Amino acid sequence: NIRKVNENYFGSYSSFGIHREMISDKVRTEAYRDALLKNPSLMSGSVVMDVGCGTGILSLFAAQAGASRVVAVEASEKMAKVATKIAKDNKVFNDNEHNGVLEVANSMVEELEKSIKIQPHSVDVLVSEWMGYCLLYESMLTSVLYARDRWLKPGGAILPDTATMFVAGFGKGATSLPFWEDVYGFDMSSIGKEILEDTARIPIVDVVEERDLVTQPALLQSFDLATMKPDEVDFTATATLEPTESETEARLCHGVVLWFDTGFTDRFCKETPTVLSTSPYYTPPTHWAQTVLTFQEPISVAPATVLSGDDRQGAIGTKECPASSIQLRVSVARASEHRSIDVSLETT
Ligand code: SAH
Repeated sequence: NIRKVNENYFGSYSSFGIHREMISDKVRTEAYRDALLKNPSLMSGSVVMDVGCGTGILSLFAAQAGASRVVAVEASEKMAKVATKIAKDNKVFNDNEHNGVLEVANSMVEELEKSIKIQPHSVDVLVSEWMGYCLLYESMLTSVLYARDRWLKPGGAILPDTATMFVAGFGKGATSLPFWEDVYGFDMSSIGKEILEDTARIPIVDVVEERDLVTQPALLQSFDLATMKPDEVDFTATATLEPTESETEARLCHGVVLWFDTGFTDRFCKETPTVLSTSPYYTPPTHWAQTVLTFQEPISVAPATVLSGDDRQGAIGTKECPASSIQLRVSVARASEHRSIDVSLETT
């Protein structure tokens, strides 16, 4: 059955493809590498647990950084086998026959005691790359917090230790409107409008450029991963968006873009604190891009600068009376569908 062969081929390619995409994301992988390799007082001689090791890349960095024991936990049987082979090939594997520092446990981290010997609260450093689109989509954060509470020593390090969500308003340039307005000289803007109606219902993952933002960024929510409780993953937060400072005339804000940073702060990374940023101000974009939420109707925002005489007339003359700022309420909740999230946006 040729079709089945093809499916299997693409199936196996696509799962390695995801790992390739993550590893090739230098902003992501180098933030973890710097946190692990450039903080010797944290890492050397430590017991490390890597929650969701995939290929084992973070565990390999931890072993390279001088950890005394690295427990790489991976739920996928296929990836646990791959990580084991890679650890052997790189001479760091540990089992009855190998005396490296890296053990691989093929297990959900929630059921780890069934597969390896490990004492509760015996881990010095818990590392994981758990972030999803919009930080929390498909995310493993609750599994990481479970591992923290069961395996981490009191006062032990969690990497990263902070996660922060930001929001900013975007203008027409970040939408598909300009593309469809002029297609070889023909007006296809009805397609652009239909697309915007769809994206007003469903958030989309896309790269937004700094030049397309029409407001300043605002902090939406911050998490302290060392102390937060699992149910804090669901939240409602408000933010006020102020127009960008350079603006001299009112501009239409078509929606908001969400992104996140995670911090490897000096609480645990004393020598070299690091930030992994997925912000539109930071290039190159990461594989998470940003999350775009479109308003039902665009909102006209007034320029930040106080204008004199004629200019001011011009600003007030545009569309409706422009707002001096936009008040938002954003709610994020885990959805009943496995690992998905619901994001709702209200302007007030
Ligand atoms: N650490 C790797 C892979 C990150 S992707 C890297 O940085 O490249 C996240 C991995 O976590 C996936 O391989 C997934 O199978 C695994 N995973 C997700 N939830 C898990 C859980 N509860 N227990 C163990 N592994 C998990």
